[in-house]
Amino acid sequence: MFIDKFKVDSPNVVYGEEEIRSVYKYETSEVVHESKDGSFQWIVKPKTVTFEFNTRARVPKLGVMLVGWGGNNGSTLTGGVIANREGISWATKDKVQQANYFGSLTQASTIRVGSYNGEEIFAPFKSLLPMVNPDDIVFGGWDISNMNLADAMARAKVLDIDLQKQLRPYMEKMVPLPGIYDPDFIAANQGSRANNVIKGTKKEQVKQVIKDIREFKEANKVDKVVVLWTANTERYSNLVVGLNDTMENLLASLDKNESEISPSTLFGIACVLENAPFVNGSPQNTFVPGLIELAIHRNSLIGGDDFKSGQTKMKSVLVDFLVGAGIKPTSIVSYNHLGNNDGMNLSAPQTFRSKEISKSNVVDDMVSSNSILYEPGEHPDHVVVIKYVPYVGDSKRAMDEYTSEIFMGGKSTIVLHNTCEDSLLAAPIILDLVLLAELSTRIQLKAEGEGKFHSFHPVATILSYLTKAPLVPPGTPVVNALAKQRAMLENILRACIGLAPENNMMLEYK
Ligand code: NAD
Repeated sequence: MFIDKFKVDSPNVVYGEEEIRSVYKYETSEVVHESKDGSFQWIVKPKTVTFEFNTRARVPKLGVMLVGWGGNNGSTLTGGVIANREGISWATKDKVQQANYFGSLTQASTIRVGSYNGEEIFAPFKSLLPMVNPDDIVFGGWDISNMNLADAMARAKVLDIDLQKQLRPYMEKMVPLPGIYDPDFIAANQGSRANNVIKGTKKEQVKQVIKDIREFKEANKVDKVVVLWTANTERYSNLVVGLNDTMENLLASLDKNESEISPSTLFGIACVLENAPFVNGSPQNTFVPGLIELAIHRNSLIGGDDFKSGQTKMKSVLVDFLVGAGIKPTSIVSYNHLGNNDGMNLSAPQTFRSKEISKSNVVDDMVSSNSILYEPGEHPDHVVVIKYVPYVGDSKRAMDEYTSEIFMGGKSTIVLHNTCEDSLLAAPIILDLVLLAELSTRIQLKAEGEGKFHSFHPVATILSYLTKAPLVPPGTPVVNALAKQRAMLENILRACIGLAPENNMMLEYK
């Protein structure tokens, strides 16, 4: 059974006008190596820590500024949100299609809240805590191409033509602000697109981005702006001691107009200085150590990297299942071909390399969790190939072969073939990222013994379900397994309303 909203009735939760307050007992365990009766033993000690959560209940008017607004993802998301807001439907050869948010965790997935007369009750994910309604988002952003969003949507060739016709009047007046173009960081084949660029030194470019955010906020009367990079994949920045290794060095390098600071890092610096949450949806190392330090220093949310939309999402499910079942994946080979502008940009070796790195570490946590299967340091062969094939456009092909060792030396090979419009997978993920980034800035917490409430760590691991290579604070474990990432996010939001984590024990039926 489905309910569309609910409230929790518990002594541990208070729904106020301004705040939702909860007290939550966090059950965890610690492992220690102890000497007992003359021999060393591993001891697991259950531990309970009481946390308090305060969530600001008032939802701000939200502005979302996309870097790369005129790209396939940017135009598809903007059109998709307008179509939902306006209740647009359009004819396809199969049926009359209604706008929807399929593929969005917050808008189209549910959570189990309990049972009623022996029946399981589900509610929308978005009903857990007050979240911005996508209808109320004001979109804006930057692009190195000055094409308006209606023409950009046509260039992308993603949305159905009858839908495009209906969206055109809403989108033709939307024109991206000039972006920061540095041909050294993206493929040379993007040069012909760059007719809309911010001039000046890197410091002047950062100042311009800050000015753009302020003016957008003012012009649209929004309370908060979240910025998300969905522009081209850049090459990796070189990490150089003295250049970008610390906050001071990065800011000094900015003053010196150092060439090795990428456009995405410049956008990141501007957002952190302006305290606007900044999420990176592409694979490059935008978050050089100096920028991470700056974000921590200013307590400004950063998150990334690289949307986890298709092939990698599948990988972080399948390998988790195999390793969790005691089966040993030994070779994972992933081919992709795509024909959109992202594919063209990735056809240059240096940008492809960024994607290869971001896709490569995705099974590490699962492999290292099982030393029955893998020797220390042992790893499955893992190869990623991406080819640009213009004819297929945004309709990406992903082919994967997983070979595993099974019982008694047997081998099992699984082959997957997925055909799917890339931007229709990415757009709902972008929506989730901005909504959850905004929400997480409204949550404050403190553990017992901590004097003051504080926000989550500015490096937003809460977003990791949505990213291929989750950015985590220095010294924090990276979790890639999709089910664990979803459980982490859902359970933290449940804690904010005093609900126990979903433990799937269902003891009431046993
Ligand atoms: P796209 O090439 O269609 O769009 C990128 C846009 O960014 C272009 O319009 C380009 O003109 C603009 N741009 C480039 N550099 C810029 C800059 N410095 N400032 C402002 N604008 C700039 O690509 P897309 O398909 O929309 O994908 C966007 C990004 O998302 C890519 O990096 C891609 O790798 C990443 N990504 C996409 C998916 C997916 O679509 N499923 C998944 C994971 C990651």
